[in-house]
This record gives sequence, structure tokens and C-alpha cells, in this order.
Amino acid sequence: QKSKGSGHASEEYRTLNLNGHVGFDSLPHQLVRKCTERGFQFNLMCVGETGMGKTTLIESLFNMKLEFHPCNNELKTVELLSKTYDVVEGGIRLKLTIVETAGFGDQLDKDKSAQVIVDFINEQFENYLKEELKIKRCLDYYDDTRIHACLYFISPTGHGLKALDVVTLRRLAERVNVIPVIAKADTTCKDELIRFKSKILSELRSHNIPIYQFPTDDETVRAINTELNQLLPYAVVGSTDFVKKENGKMVRARRYPWGMVEVENEEHCDFVKLREAVLRTNVDALRERTHKVLYETYRRERLRAMKVGDGDTGPKMMEAFAQRQREFIDEMSNRDRELREEFVARVNKKEEEMKRREELLNLRSKEISDGFDEELRRIESQMHTLLEEKAKYESKVAGKKMKK
Ligand code: GDP
Repeated sequence: QKSKGSGHASEEYRTLNLNGHVGFDSLPHQLVRKCTERGFQFNLMCVGETGMGKTTLIESLFNMKLEFHPCNNELKTVELLSKTYDVVEGGIRLKLTIVETAGFGDQLDKDKSAQVIVDFINEQFENYLKEELKIKRCLDYYDDTRIHACLYFISPTGHGLKALDVVTLRRLAERVNVIPVIAKADTTCKDELIRFKSKILSELRSHNIPIYQFPTDDETVRAINTELNQLLPYAVVGSTDFVKKENGKMVRARRYPWGMVEVENEEHCDFVKLREAVLRTNVDALRERTHKVLYETYRRERLRAMKVGDGDTGPKMMEAFAQRQREFIDEMSNRDRELREEFVARVNKKEEEMKRREELLNLRSKEISDGFDEELRRIESQMHTLLEEKAKYESKVAGKKMKK
């Protein structure tokens, strides 16, 4: 039988029917074994204002206690806190890194808050790029810290996205798979939540902010991912407490005077859907898009900035990278020298001014002291005259008394 291979358009090759079992049908099993042994890495970032329930939701998602301490609202800048955990489920090892943003939304400068987060994401891309450009590289065992997904927490109170959300989401969407969630959904009633969701979606559209869409090209996940996409942004509830139900089952829930909200009840919130979307169905899709689309974009931008052409390969890239780094170091040392010179010039100017002021003060003090001496001399001569007059007067009076 003859057929044309897609990769060998002009070349014809034959498909053979094997006469016996050769054994390369075990290839998929070999791959699975290799991946299982190596384990998987998944890096999840949570962005949202302080107190929005980020830690609680992650604890609910992974059914574990995180050691993030509540942060105070007085941080001067956004800080990124990252913790890595080794999680094993069904023999599969997952190296999970959670990155939380402390102090987000507590500063007035909205652009700066977003910048700090984007800088962090870029830094992870940059580290990977550096490893990739090494002549002796070790990407298989590289500790990949690139962020695979970002849960963006939207406040349930308010009339839609805030300015901070728009600024941050726009910047984040270029660099990471953004999955928006409506935090603390138990604080809003069901109808309001439906309206809120569509308001947010229309605002995202009008601001041209693309949020992550779970892939529907693979038919095994098409149906579920289509449903998951329709539910975005997920209205979620998190809790660290367990409540015993009438049937004796312990469930993760929040208890209120009028009843309780079960985290894993699909009637109550989209928590289960979020877990399904991010952790059960699409971990690999999220990792793949991070590498093939987001990192690729970053890489292209960086290499272009380093003036690496499409024809440049391996060592040439390293050369360009090293050259760019040298330029950067030169630029920094020039800037450093300029700053030093500027500083010395300013100090000299200040010293001259101080000297001039000192001279003026000396002059003034001399004038004052001369004036004072003059005045003293004048008063002394007046006193002298007065004393003389007094003496004259007294001798006159004494003369008169003698005559009498
Ligand atoms: P973070 O600062 O964003 O990490 O917020 P935390 O997870 O520390 O939660 C802050 C407060 O919000 C805590 O008192 C939580 O109990 C509460 N909280 C967390 N999730 C929810 C939720 O889904 N609904 C409600 N009503 N409160 C929540």
C-alpha cells in the first residue's frame, strides 16, 4: 500500500503490515511511566485584594492547610509570596507552587501594583529563557517557575470591574492564563450573581481583555470545556470549616443563622466547576499554552530586543544575549558614574553656598560688634561728661556753703 506522508510531501513511502508483534505499541506506556516518575509541576497564582478569600479558596481547592499568614493592609508595595508543596494523588506526584499577592489593592498607584505582578511573571520567563540559551542546558530537570494559571479574584460587591481590575487584568492577560473568579459568592443572591457575571463579561469584552478559554478542539474534552467556558467567571465560595450534615457526612461549608453554604454543592456555587476546569481537566492545556503561546511571545520579544535574527541559532543567541547583558552593565555603570558626578557637583555647590553664607554672617557679626563698640564709647564719653558736670556742680555747691 502506498501513501503520502504529510511531512514528506514529495517523498513516497510504504506502510508495512507487520507479520508479527514487534512491541513499539508500548510507546505510550513508556511516556506515561517517564512522566509519572518525573512528576508534574503546576504553578498557580492568585491575584486579588487583601481579605478576598484567596488563601481560603486554595485551601479548599487542594484540601490542605497553607502556611500563608494574613497580611496587613499597610504594605507600601505589592509583595509576591510563593510556597511550594509536593502533593501526591493516585501515585502521581505534583509539585505545586502557589503564588499569592500580598498588599494588592492597598496602594493608590494602580499601574504600579499591576507592574509588580507582571514583572514577577516576566522574571520567571526570563529565567527559563536564560536556561534555554545555555550551551549546556538542562530543561528536563529545570525547576520551572513559569506561572501556568492565574486566578483573578473579583469583589462580589460593587457594580462590576473596578479601575484596578481593568488595569491589572489587561496587563496580566498578555502574560498568563487568566481565570476570573467572583470571590465570596455567598454574599450575593443568585439573580444578582447572574447579572453580575454577564456585566463582568461585557466589561471585559468592551475593554478588549481576553480571558483564558478552556480548549474545545480536542473532542474528549469539548463538551465539558464548552460548559466550563460558559460558566466563566466562576462564582466561588471557600471555607476552612467542616459541618456535619443530617446524613452524618462532613462537608466543607460556611454556616449562617439562616442555613449553610456548601462549598462543593453545585447548587450553591461554582467551586466544583472551578476545580474541574483548572485541576481535573485542563492542567496540561494550561501548561501547554503557557509554554507554546505565552512564553513563545515573551521569548520572541526578548530576542528581538536583543537584536537576534531568525537565522541566529544556539551560540549566536548566547552571543547576542551576552552582548545585550554587557550593554546593560555598561549602561548601568555609566548611569552610576553620572549619578556620582551629579552628587559630587551638588555637594560642592552646597559647600560653596554654605561658605558664602558663613562669610556674610561673619561680616554682619563684625558690623554689629563695631556698632556696639561705637555705642559703648559714646555712652562712656557721655557718662564722663556727666560725671565732670556733677563734680563741677558739687564743688560749686560746696563753695557757696563755705561762704555762708
Ligand atoms: P486573603 O487575604 O485573600 O488570602 O483572604 P483569606 O482567605 O485570608 O480570607 C479573609 C476572610 O474572608 C476570612 O475571614 C475568611 O473566613 C473569609 N472568607 C474566605 N472565603 C470566603 C467566602 O467564600 N465567603 C465568605 N463569606 N467569606 C470568606
